[in-house]
Amino acid sequence: MPNTRGMKNQKLAGGAVKLHVRKGDTVLVLSGKNRGRDGKVLSAMPAEGRVIVEGINIVTKHKKPQRMNPGGIVRQEAPIHASNVMLICGKCKAPTKVAKRLLENGEKVRVCKKCGEIIDTIVEKSGE
Ligand SMILES: [Zn+2]
Repeated sequence: MPNTRGMKNQKLAGGAVKLHVRKGDTVLVLSGKNRGRDGKVLSAMPAEGRVIVEGINIVTKHKKPQRMNPGGIVRQEAPIHASNVMLICGKCKAPTKVAKRLLENGEKVRVCKKCGEIIDTIVEKSGE
């Protein structure tokens, strides 16, 4: 079996990959030590395919004291793979897959595959 570690240098062409979850979403964690827990996405990192979820995958970091910072032990969320989380639909409150749909007015929306409700609008660029 080839070792998948060799793939870490693989660069994603074309920049950021769209994630199925975004900042502010509530997600269910599917794997790891926090499996089965849910939390809010604090930060999405599309380029790495990772998300930071509130209260999930907490790591302890020992920080050296610096001028502005007394240092010490800091507990913070470490990023987890977006593939390890599932969006929890705000309408039916169930973990669901996300479908993308183009509306007649040209808007792209995320749709819950469970209940069919529109979750939100996908804003491609905020320049208009
Ligand atoms: Zn739903």
